[in-house]
Amino acid sequence: SMISNHLPTAELQALDAAHHMHPFTCNSELSQKGARVITRAKGVTLTDSDGHEILDAMAGLWCVNVGYGRDELADVAARQMRELPYYNTFFQTTHVPAIALAQKIAELAPGDLNNVFFAGSGSEANDTNIRMVRHYWAMKNKPSKSIIISRHNAYHGSSVGSGSLGGMSGMHAQGGMPIPDIHHINQPDWWADGGELSPKEFGLQRAQELEKAILDLGEDRVAAFIAEPVQGAGGVIVAPDSYWPEIQRICDKYEILLIADEVICGFGRTGQWFGSETLGIRPDIMTIAKGLSSGYAPIGGSIVSDEVASIISKGEFNHGYTYSGHPVAAAVALENLRILEDENIITHVKDVVAPYLAEKWQALVGHPLVGEAKIVGLMGSIALTPNKETRAPFEAEVGTVGYICRERCFANNLVMRHVGDRMIIAPPLVISTDEIDTLIARARTSLDECH
Ligand code: PLP
Repeated sequence: SMISNHLPTAELQALDAAHHMHPFTCNSELSQKGARVITRAKGVTLTDSDGHEILDAMAGLWCVNVGYGRDELADVAARQMRELPYYNTFFQTTHVPAIALAQKIAELAPGDLNNVFFAGSGSEANDTNIRMVRHYWAMKNKPSKSIIISRHNAYHGSSVGSGSLGGMSGMHAQGGMPIPDIHHINQPDWWADGGELSPKEFGLQRAQELEKAILDLGEDRVAAFIAEPVQGAGGVIVAPDSYWPEIQRICDKYEILLIADEVICGFGRTGQWFGSETLGIRPDIMTIAKGLSSGYAPIGGSIVSDEVASIISKGEFNHGYTYSGHPVAAAVALENLRILEDENIITHVKDVVAPYLAEKWQALVGHPLVGEAKIVGLMGSIALTPNKETRAPFEAEVGTVGYICRERCFANNLVMRHVGDRMIIAPPLVISTDEIDTLIARARTSLDECH
């Protein structure tokens, strides 16, 4: 029989468990309780197969920036599929969606970030970056500059290359990561690691770990430093103000290429087009994906400075993906950028909903379980703790309370994620103040239920 939304939930769940291997999931555990079946969505609201309406405070996986149910994007995709569903950009051909999107991204990106190399995802784009920065230094007659410095707990994707670049120890433990010549320094998580230091002192100290690593490894061996402007999947870790200026100084001093992974922060999430603008960073390369198409089509890429692009362009760069610049994905992304611009969605974030949410989010610190609340634009986190004074973690296994809290949220029709004992949010940028009230009310109810 046909599998459709009309089947009973239990039947869909059984079929799902029989054949579908979910990413980042213990599938044996999930098959016992059954995955929640999402059937449709509109704005910030998901509907499941039992008719529940769920507020999606994660915008899917931090990507549905313009919200769900945009007919304009569906129309553009259908039109482009009819006109030119696919053509590659490898062998001296191009097409209008790729031309127009690259031009538009170059216009939006700051400084001399004027060149775009397309990929199908953020993981692929970061794989591009690994090869691009190493090739850049080889082309400049410095082939020994091959080490890329990243941060523990960073998330840069799940392919072997991008997963190595990332600093998730649980990923490294499975399947032969990291690849050679990737080095990780500590993340600037004051709540977890700051001890007696002030946030300012701690931020400087963590930034100076980069300088120490460069000197230890050898200036002539380091190609690049990569970081998310605000660490996302690591728990929405917002660095102290002192951190980024020091990182920028160090990259400038030692001629280390700076890669800003904007896969989450890009396209309005922080209240400006790019997180680098909000955090005051001048990267040589940006990684983009997610909000570029609001998740309506898979697309990512690297935005590259004129200097780096001019060197790479001197010869053939032996790299690319079948779906680099995919015409349907590119057309959807272009229309998505038009929506972000024409509806002034980033101004809505900066002037209306980010300040509104920030006040209510920070007030969660009054809750007995919540130690600190951090928020930049529309990405936020709270740290759960049994002791706000010592900032101690729970005695039970780290993540247990976060997991319970996430389950309570889900039961209360709110999607929030947990990273260890931090709860995180990144709602669609089109969220209204009323919807923020609902989000906060459901979050409070869920917190009450788990302490
Ligand atoms: N970089 C960052 C900062 C991300 O958050 C992600 C995904 O969550 C990626 C890269 C990988 O992107 P993708 O899942 O599209 O490969």
